[in-house]
Amino acid sequence: MINQLDLKLVNARYQAEIEEAAVSVIRSGRYILGPNVEEFERELSEYMNVKHVIGISNGLDALRLIFQAYIELGKLSLGDEVLVPDNSFIASALALSSVGLKPVFIAPNERTYNLDLDSIPSYILDRVKAVMLVHLYGRITWSPDFHENMKNRGILVVEDNAQAVGAKYNGVSSGTLGNAGAMSFYPGKNLGAMGDAGGISTNDDELAELIYYLRNYGSKIKYYHDYLGHNCRLDEIQAAILRVKLKYLDDANRRRREIAANYCDGIQNDLIKKPLSSSDEVFRLGDEHIWHQYVIRTENRDGLAKYMADNQIGS
Ligand SMILES: *Cc1c(COP(=O)(O)O)cnc(C)c1O
Repeated sequence: MINQLDLKLVNARYQAEIEEAAVSVIRSGRYILGPNVEEFERELSEYMNVKHVIGISNGLDALRLIFQAYIELGKLSLGDEVLVPDNSFIASALALSSVGLKPVFIAPNERTYNLDLDSIPSYILDRVKAVMLVHLYGRITWSPDFHENMKNRGILVVEDNAQAVGAKYNGVSSGTLGNAGAMSFYPGKNLGAMGDAGGISTNDDELAELIYYLRNYGSKIKYYHDYLGHNCRLDEIQAAILRVKLKYLDDANRRRREIAANYCDGIQNDLIKKPLSSSDEVFRLGDEHIWHQYVIRTENRDGLAKYMADNQIGS
């Protein structure tokens, strides 16, 4: 059987280094907010070319903390509408409703699976205070005109970057295009830990400072609690593992692009609609899709999945 995702196989490539990293944390006696979290934050911020990366417990918490921080800073208010694509994983919308914001769902483009940013109707934008862009399946959704429009309207742009760590738009990393981005390092993601883990990226000093407190009980100084905080810290062992995985992220994403290119060329079947790829004319130059998933569309989905399973191919 060819599994759709075989994490054991994926991680076996880095096995010795990962084990060494984990054992060194176990032996160090520093388990919470230690040197590995700090170094991972620094290394990932350098990799993404962004001022701040903050390690967080998981991707959902990362999204939630960004929006809670904007509420604390007075940039959003309870009940404000936030635009979100209707085909994302539930975490995108849940992050909004769980902090008292109201998700407004928008349908995506059928070939990119992402929002067509330049054709979002004005009457919708007139009402929203923020938009959540989801770089679904590893494809960046971005438009400089849209961004200009958002800036002029004072609308915040938050990126759900859970599936696209390492993707770039004209050389700019996903998660650093808008005001802030949230990452998931869930084991199955492109940059995957070996447990739950997540992160936030931003160039906004004020937002970053507040998030450092919110993730750790709202506390600047131990036992002084200035905010209604949470325990949303990134684990030290996961950070040590992620430092190893980060070194190989570009190679892993490059390999994903090769495999996706093979699918794009090799799948020739009128019953299968393929995602937009670099061989399509309309594909935006400058896009660096990292193919978290290769998603096809077909009328007979369950039949095709069964046919593939019968032929030892997972989907
Ligand atoms: C995985 C994922 C999340 C949530 O991440 P967790 O670490 O599982 O909480 C959010 N948004 C998208 C698009 C995801 O794929």
